Amino acid sequence: MTSPVVELLQRLIKNQCVNDGSVGSGNESRSVATLLEYFGVEGELHEPEPGRQSLVYRMAGSDPEWPSLALVPHLDVVPVDPTGWSVDPFAAEIIDGFVYGRGAVDMLNVTASMATAVRPYLTGEKAPRGDLVFAAVADEEAGGRLGALPLVEERWDLVRADFLMTEVAYPALTVGDHRSVPVSIGEKGAYWSILKTHGAPGHGSAPYGTENALHKMIEALAGLVEAPQPADVTGEWVGFVENLGLDPGSVSRLTDVDQLDDEIDRIAAEDPALARYIHAATHLTISTNVLQAGTKTNMVADKARAEVDIRGLPGMDRHFVDSHLRKAMGAAADQVDIVPVMDGNATVSPVGNVLWEAIGDAVELLDGHRNLAPTLMTVATDARFWRAKGTVAYGVGLFDDRMGFSEMLSLFHGHDERVSVASVDRTTSLYETVLDRFFAGA
Ligand SMILES: [Zn+2]
Repeated sequence: MTSPVVELLQRLIKNQCVNDGSVGSGNESRSVATLLEYFGVEGELHEPEPGRQSLVYRMAGSDPEWPSLALVPHLDVVPVDPTGWSVDPFAAEIIDGFVYGRGAVDMLNVTASMATAVRPYLTGEKAPRGDLVFAAVADEEAGGRLGALPLVEERWDLVRADFLMTEVAYPALTVGDHRSVPVSIGEKGAYWSILKTHGAPGHGSAPYGTENALHKMIEALAGLVEAPQPADVTGEWVGFVENLGLDPGSVSRLTDVDQLDDEIDRIAAEDPALARYIHAATHLTISTNVLQAGTKTNMVADKARAEVDIRGLPGMDRHFVDSHLRKAMGAAADQVDIVPVMDGNATVSPVGNVLWEAIGDAVELLDGHRNLAPTLMTVATDARFWRAKGTVAYGVGLFDDRMGFSEMLSLFHGHDERVSVASVDRTTSLYETVLDRFFAGA
């Protein structure tokens, strides 16, 4: 009753390749074994740590002049809190037309669709005109150090490509009767930081005049939390908004940096998840998520540290981030050390090329229009490693209308993650058509 691609998705979910960030987690070798069985064709294994396998195929194109294309899905998923789920997160049950399970939208659905689309090329039923790479990788959810990053750094001969498809696949955006399919063309930069303050130990019973590291941290964070997060209307954002079919008033409010925050507040009243996305796509975002200080109730805190998730738009960099942090913390900034733990600028691919047109053709064939909305992802994906090498990288999928854009945003890493069977089939058709059109030279 279910299609082979849905059965493949169910098997990938049941493999429980949960990546908690530790080297011993993930166990992507289970899903590599599933894919090897599904393809029936040997591939190149990359295994920097036991069990942390990526599976790569590189098929030579018939035309050496034709551009190369890589499909790079990941095999790992993030951990679950089963108490928040209404079903077993790893049983891959189908209920009312939805496959439930961790990874159903991030991104085992697309992994299964890409594997299905690429299979006829692996078995020799179809021949690619340019080189075709399929790389199912480990460790995306922990930054790719045991997956995509070493492949790009050490095996560029194997994974190099002019064009690439990976995350994120979003459902269509619908405004009235105007549909547009988001195509992820870039992602924000990540500037995770640790803030540190220092004091002097003393007895908590007599705090007058003591130097308390936690008090310094509270002053600094108060400024940071209060300060408006800097907004910017980038070319990427304008390109996205203009493709949604919105009325001219909405377009101008969403693309005017002075009206933007009020418009986001207005949208938040109706659709908080959408407002959250719009805010993230137009601002330097700062989320203070970990705070540690002191050792004992009766000891003055001599150390405090805060971990801050900071994401920047194209055009922002570490210098921009640090100067905003210092300004926002005000006088307290002099007492704070900012320690960068992640420092990668935003990456963006241009539109209007053979892959963009192949996606447009596929969307036109399968969804009846060719409105592609170029979308900036707020999260980091493996695409950034290839973009840094000059590869054009996109993410795209095709869903049915049982789940909207903003509902799906809340399912990423969330409870009751699920995807409709029809959406898995549609995304598979999309990839099959994109490969056909890309190699046909549409
Ligand atoms: Zn993902």
